[in-house]
Amino acid sequence: MKPAPFSYVRPQGLQHALEALAADPGAKVLAGGQSLVPLLSMRLAAPTTLVDVNGLPDLDHVRVEDPVDGGAGVRVGALARHADVLASAEARRVQPLLALALAHVAHPTIRNRGTTVGSVVHADAAAEMPMVLCLLDGSVTAASTAGTRTIPATELYAGPLESTLHHDEVALEAFFPALPPDAGLAFEEVARRHGDYALVGVGAVVRVSGARLTSARVGYLAVSDVPTVVDLTTALSEDPATGTLSTEATEATDAAAELALARLDPADDLHASAAYRTRLVRVLTGRVLRAAYADALDRSARDGAGGAS
Ligand code: FAD
Repeated sequence: MKPAPFSYVRPQGLQHALEALAADPGAKVLAGGQSLVPLLSMRLAAPTTLVDVNGLPDLDHVRVEDPVDGGAGVRVGALARHADVLASAEARRVQPLLALALAHVAHPTIRNRGTTVGSVVHADAAAEMPMVLCLLDGSVTAASTAGTRTIPATELYAGPLESTLHHDEVALEAFFPALPPDAGLAFEEVARRHGDYALVGVGAVVRVSGARLTSARVGYLAVSDVPTVVDLTTALSEDPATGTLSTEATEATDAAAELALARLDPADDLHASAAYRTRLVRVLTGRVLRAAYADALDRSARDGAGGAS
């Protein structure tokens, strides 16, 4: 099928792009086109104007802010491709979850065109980067002719493929906070083939004080209408005498997975049954929690021994 007719604008400056969006309520931003172009071709989207932002200057950065600058983390510009973020050693150092998750996003050819910010605002609950943004408590900065605003990840996702970005806004940048020094992380997903959208994906950030687990947040993709993050700390620190997470004992992580399932809504579709997704949530929750806890202990031991962050 061919796309419905549309006007095409390729602005060279941000103001021109914002004016083009404001002028047509049916306009849409075109970034890497890896989600939008298939939707156009299937006529699942029929914007009246496409505002192609690929000519805009100064939006292809992957910039690391160390703690000395204030909010430590990684700033990803709207025209940075998934491949740029994945290739950034500095981004990997400051927030290793970016590379861990991006390795599961599609294939190299798609990662060479698709933008990380485009993925974040496309708001597909089966995509990796919206969940990563939520798990890390990140944010998106957006501009319109009315000005600029920053939207916390907790307020970005309204429903399936629906963000709270206004139709006349361009997302300029996503901010992914750094991994704290006392934290470890893990990410796992199950897909039918490597590079396919996940049937279920789970990421965890665990914090420790010595060997004691002090916080555990777990993010889920493809099991609800929106990316979902659940705080599982209470389920895991039930034994106040130790507060540790044994790699053999699965009781605590099983309990944590049940707590998470109460917040999730695994559904049937063409690719997997709700029962199978529920099973994946149970298995992957345990795996990522144990792996993130072990990672936190490793990092703390390295830092304690004077190692690099
Ligand atoms: P576009 O397709 O250009 O735009 C997507 C949507 O976001 C549109 O509504 C557009 O208007 C809006 N948008 C984009 N940028 C902005 C902006 N700066 N401001 C405002 N609105 C904006 N993704 C995954 O996460 N995991 C996968 O496993 C995966 N597999 C894929 C497999 C295939 C075969 C394909 C074709 C794609 C796959 N993707 C996957 C999608 C890919 O990651 C896309 O790159 C991403 O979803 C969208 O980024 P984009 O730059 O291509 O956005």
